[in-house]
Formats: sequence, structure tokens, C-alpha cells
Amino acid sequence: MHAPVYLDHAASTPLRPEARAALLRWLDRDVGNASAVHGAGQAARVAVEEARELVAAALGVTPADVVFTSGGTESDNLAVKGLAWSGMAEGRRHLVTTAVEHPAVLEPARWVAAHEGLELTVVPPEADGRIDPERVLAAVRDDTALVSVMWANNEVGAVNDIAAIASGLADSPAQLHSDAVQAFATQEVGGSLVDALSLSAHKFGGPQGVGVAMLRRGVSIESLTHGGGQDRGVRSGTFASALVAACGAATATAVADRPRLAAAARTQTDRLANVLLGLAGVRRNGPVAPEHRLPTHLHLSVDGVSGEALTLMLDRAGVQVAAGAACTAGALTASEGLVAMGIEADATLRLTVGHTSTDADIEQALDILTTVIPNLRQRSRSVSGP
Ligand code: PLP
Repeated sequence: MHAPVYLDHAASTPLRPEARAALLRWLDRDVGNASAVHGAGQAARVAVEEARELVAAALGVTPADVVFTSGGTESDNLAVKGLAWSGMAEGRRHLVTTAVEHPAVLEPARWVAAHEGLELTVVPPEADGRIDPERVLAAVRDDTALVSVMWANNEVGAVNDIAAIASGLADSPAQLHSDAVQAFATQEVGGSLVDALSLSAHKFGGPQGVGVAMLRRGVSIESLTHGGGQDRGVRSGTFASALVAACGAATATAVADRPRLAAAARTQTDRLANVLLGLAGVRRNGPVAPEHRLPTHLHLSVDGVSGEALTLMLDRAGVQVAAGAACTAGALTASEGLVAMGIEADATLRLTVGHTSTDADIEQALDILTTVIPNLRQRSRSVSGP
């Protein structure tokens, strides 16, 4: 009996050994509060500042631009609400985002618009999930406070042209935020292109519960948490020094391993696609050209089966995949993003590989997928009749 094959790295990828070592090293030391001036506090401070330097180097920004958070959701909320509020203070009352953003961006955008009486423009995606920079720029007005467009989509893996949006906004007072949570593991993410950027450590080999909000120094932002004024007053709260140290180690390791991971992931998702697209009722979603999609992601529509039955049967047979997106807590209805792309299917499957995926995993998964999908389609047909 084989161990199950894990093909849900976009939901959370295993801890890298370097991140685990940093986490344990700092958990086991008698560190104090990183804001304290005594030796124990200063030891914790060293952990935080070393990690800040590693993250800044990975993003091509200065350490002062890096703020640590509890993860992608908090970073997105901080950027969206914080920049909306600071824009409001300067009389700007309009926000622009896209229909394929993760709920961690869409929901705070809707919330702040509703609570503050701001106008929100939600730009639709192209059919392959990418965002046309021209449509975003056409939506921007003189009173736009914030434009938030994800670096790469978490479901179909579509990669957006953030550089084109950034250069189109060069003369606009609007701030640009990008959610790079899914992109960072395999894409070069240039923090200096944008005013704000979100990362989540558990998507690239760090622990769950820690993330990064890159907030370009000089950009005015309202805080969500008020208290001791840590992290330049933007994010009060005692630094989670061990988690932050592990996030720093994961960042550096992920950047060093990026070329290997991107190449291996591309081979693995291409192999999955080549076989699975040969099955009746299976179609691919998302961009076709490799340069427009994350190498780690393969998104499929499967007709003639129920999504819930398919994921449960695959899980029982030993392959763990996502139906739609994870993070929306078990919901198997089509996500808003997939609906916006015009994807209509009885079931969707997201297969995502990561730094621990092997070619043998892929062959094992294919044995299972090529048995379960046709069997389930056959069974569904005989239940529903001719
Ligand atoms: N943004 C994107 C694109 C994501 O894929 C996710 C998680 O799946 C998040 C934000 C939320 O990140 P976290 O789980 O760290 O809160």
C-alpha cells in the first residue's frame, strides 16, 4: 500500500527542512520579546531582523519595506483596507480589483466599500483567467485610492502582467497592491514594482500562520491593529520571532530552489495534462501558453461526475486534490473566480505540485486518476440512465 499522493500544494505545501530548523532553533532558545532592550529581547530581535533582510532581498526591496503578519489573509486585509482608508483621508473614494482575486482581497474590498460608502469596480477576467492590464487601467479614475490585482491566480494558475499595470499607473495617485501568495514559489516577484504586496509562508515551505506585507516605505497606510506600535506602527503585536525566522529561511530557500522547482513542476503538470486530457469528459482550464500559467498548477473540468463524489473517491483511492479552491472551507460549489471565467462543468479539479513532488508521485496519481475518473463517469451514467 502506497502513501497517498499529495497534489494540493497550492493549499499548503510541506515545511522545508531549512524552515523547520530555523523554527526549532528559535522555539528552543530562551528568547524574549523582540521589543525589549535586554539580551533575551535582543536575541529575538536578531531573529526578526535577519528574516526581514532575507525577505527584502528576495523581493528586491529594502528591509524597512517588510512587515510581518499572520499570513496571506492578514496581509491582504491590511493592504486593501489600510490603503483604502489612507486614500479616503486624501479624498479618494474609488477602488479597483478583479473578479478572480482570492476572497482575502475581494471580501475586504467589498467590506470597506460598503462600510465607508466607497465605489468598487470589479474588473472581469479573460476566459483563461488572466487580467487584461488595459481593462484595469481603463477602470482607474482620478479619485482611485487603490488598485489590487493578484500576481497569479490560485485556481487556474493564470499569471498576470503586473509590470504593465504598474507602468500604466506611473502618473496616477492610486496605490497598487498585488497578492503574490501563489506566485512566489515559482515566479520572480519584484516588490519594487508595486506599493504593497502579500506573501504567505506556508505556500512556499514556511510554517502556517506567518506571512509578509511588503508596504513600500513612504506609502501612507492606516493600521488594522493598534497597540504597541511594532513594525513601524503598521502592525502592532509581539513579533512571532520563531515563525518569522522560519519564514525568512523559507523565503531564501524558495528563491534558491525556484529554477529547479519551476522546471520539475512544469514537467510534472505537463505529464498529468498529457494523460488526463486524453480521458473522455476532461478539459483544461486556464491559460494554454506555458509563460502565462504557473508551472505548479493544472486545472481541469470533468463532465458527467459530481465534484464531491470525485474528490472523495480520489481521496479514498490515495490522491489528494482540490475541487475548486481550498481556503473556502470545504465548499464544493464553483468559486466566484471560476464563474467569472465562464467555466461551466459538473466538476472541477485543481492538481498542484510542489517542492516535495516526485515523478513517481505523478505516475502513482495517474494510475488512480485514470481509473477513478472513467469509473465514476460510467457509474454516474448508469445511475442517471440513457
Ligand atoms: N491569497 C491567495 C492567492 C491564496 O491562494 C491564499 C490561500 O490559499 C490566501 C491569499 C490566504 O493565505 P493564508 O492562508 O496565509 O491566509
